[in-house]
Amino acid sequence: MPVRRAQRFICGRRTLVPDALVRTVLSLAADDAYAYTREDMFATLVCTIEVHKGPVHYGAALNLRGPEAGTLWALWRDGGGPSAVLEIPDCPAGREVDSPCSEFEGHSGGHSWELDDPPRIATAFPLRRQAWT
Ligand SMILES: [Zn+2]
Ligand SMILES: [Zn+2]
Repeated sequence: MPVRRAQRFICGRRTLVPDALVRTVLSLAADDAYAYTREDMFATLVCTIEVHKGPVHYGAALNLRGPEAGTLWALWRDGGGPSAVLEIPDCPAGREVDSPCSEFEGHSGGHSWELDDPPRIATAFPLRRQAWT
């Protein structure tokens, strides 16, 4: 029997994609070779790096096209919306066996294939109150 290793999980915090982030990401992504639309972006930001202590979460916003293209990542803090967008090269691990890590280069924690989704969905939406009239 193989030794069962302790399960490791992604952070899993989520946040919504506000319109301002859509505009920022699409303007950063635009280039001569490729055109992007809102449909190319992830519907929700999910922090996919391993459970971490720091307050900053990273969610992939848009996978850039092209052979050496990286990914646009949005950063946010607990309790706030996305505050920055960075283009970061993809993590090089796993390319040689054709199952590349889906994180960014230099990420903390384990590679994507070492991590599972958390057993509970970690909700961090800024829940809005709605008045019924
Ligand atoms: Zn996180
Ligand atoms: Zn990796």
